[in-house]
Amino acid sequence: MTAFAARRVAAALVLTLAAGAVHAAPAPPPKLVVVIVVDQMRGDYIERYGFQWTAGLRRLVDGGAWFRRAAYPYLTTVTCVGHATISTGAFPRTHGIVGNSWFDRELGRSVGCSWDPRLTTISYAAPVSGGEGPSSIRSATLADELRAQLPVPARVVTMSIKERTAIALAGHRADAVTWFNGAAGGFVTSSAYTSAPVPFVAAFAKANPVTADFGRAWTRTLPADRYLFADAGTGEKPASYWSAEFPHTMKGKSDRPDAPYYEAWESSPFSDDYLGRLAIASVDALKLGQGKGTDFLGISFSALDLVGHDFGPTSHEVQDTLARLDRTIGALLDHLDRTVGAGDYVVAFTGDHGAAPIPEQVAALGIDAGRLDVDVVRQAAQRALEAALGPGSYVVRVQYSDLILDPDVVEKLRRDPRALDGVLRVLRAVPGVAAAFFAEQLDSHAAAGDRDARAALLSYYPGRSGDLIVVPRPYWFYVSADGTSQPGSATSHGTMYGYDQKVPIVLFGRGIKPGEYVRAVTPADIAPTLAHLCGVTLAHADGEVLSEALAPAVPAVQRGR
Ligand SMILES: [Zn+2]
Repeated sequence: MTAFAARRVAAALVLTLAAGAVHAAPAPPPKLVVVIVVDQMRGDYIERYGFQWTAGLRRLVDGGAWFRRAAYPYLTTVTCVGHATISTGAFPRTHGIVGNSWFDRELGRSVGCSWDPRLTTISYAAPVSGGEGPSSIRSATLADELRAQLPVPARVVTMSIKERTAIALAGHRADAVTWFNGAAGGFVTSSAYTSAPVPFVAAFAKANPVTADFGRAWTRTLPADRYLFADAGTGEKPASYWSAEFPHTMKGKSDRPDAPYYEAWESSPFSDDYLGRLAIASVDALKLGQGKGTDFLGISFSALDLVGHDFGPTSHEVQDTLARLDRTIGALLDHLDRTVGAGDYVVAFTGDHGAAPIPEQVAALGIDAGRLDVDVVRQAAQRALEAALGPGSYVVRVQYSDLILDPDVVEKLRRDPRALDGVLRVLRAVPGVAAAFFAEQLDSHAAAGDRDARAALLSYYPGRSGDLIVVPRPYWFYVSADGTSQPGSATSHGTMYGYDQKVPIVLFGRGIKPGEYVRAVTPADIAPTLAHLCGVTLAHADGEVLSEALAPAVPAVQRGR
């Protein structure tokens, strides 16, 4: 080779390398997208209890991209809303899920967020009636888009204890969507997804009856001296079959599995453990993440929410539920490493909402706190309407912060600003109320910089939200006897305060750059980020790609192309 030829070869090599570096390619898409939601996972549980975790939650936090300032920006921080936000990347004003239930103005009654009378329930245990499905969700979910856009459509599998969470995580079609139904004494699905029991779920349910935990005791999994705070904390309100202290026995009111038994089981870490094992079984049965495309697995662990409502965020029960969930998720991740391959899947871990501290514990510190009874708000609204508009029968329905009036009353208030002002003034004077708005004026209040109005506007969906919006004060939450909000439990959620809005977001695995991130982000950013990793486009997301957590693109030459 002449010196000139040698120089040309060297130059070509340099060009090739340079071209490789310039045409850097993103990491290949994940083989499996795993979305893990922990119901009522407060943002600060990682800081408070995380030092005790050694397995799955430890791996996610240490090896993932942990967003420490993630929070829902909207008012209605409840389960169905949070799950729809996670799965669609949109806020309730877009996806239309404004509560766990809302008042249907045509039917004249409250309907559940996944209620659908055209559907039937397909049971893996005893037969049950009723229909649940995704028809109320006004956006496509990430899982929907993975099915629609990828050359090899994603297989979609979701599971939870609650129907609304399994359904919202999946979306409009799926291969298996499974949840628990106490009346059935086991797991069920919907005719929205299948016309017959899904064989692998049926086999799992048969081999693992929920009755197997009957009589089992939930005891502390960590040494007793490692629990923070008191076991029987002030204001704890366990269900009738349990006391405020460990152990808690999986037993109802009789010597065989009855309705309270199934309730106890749902409210224990044993239900999380069951879902973890069902998730592993679904990975094996459908070979999720082991085909040519990208599959989707969504799991919503419900026990923490039920435990949190009864025992509060500082309880031994919450701490123990998380310590056990650490192991449940650890077993799942270990299984995914073996089957899908370590580094070949991506996990998004988050909560659907947080929870308030127990009001009695806050009040003991001299801070204003309490429970806002929907009846008190309803009666105040009725009295105020009579005073403002004259005698008459004013029907007011209260669902959390949403007050629904008859259309002619709304019209009168629209035309009479003084009457409207009077009504809002009375509502603002109710003990525990921070703010009251005429829904049609949320826009202008939000534009003027009102934080409460801005949060309420993100939650507002015309036709489903209230005509009046009544926001509780900090450390106050709605309770009711009629089921339109959480009954008189120890604590709850559903407001726009930090303890309700803040949740963790951890992204882990394929395409993710580990680290701690402090930018303020929202769970609506999860679906856009996962969509970006998978190369699909969401039609109508409010969230954005969490770009700081994306692994740097890999130069093509290093990837052997
Ligand atoms: Zn809850």
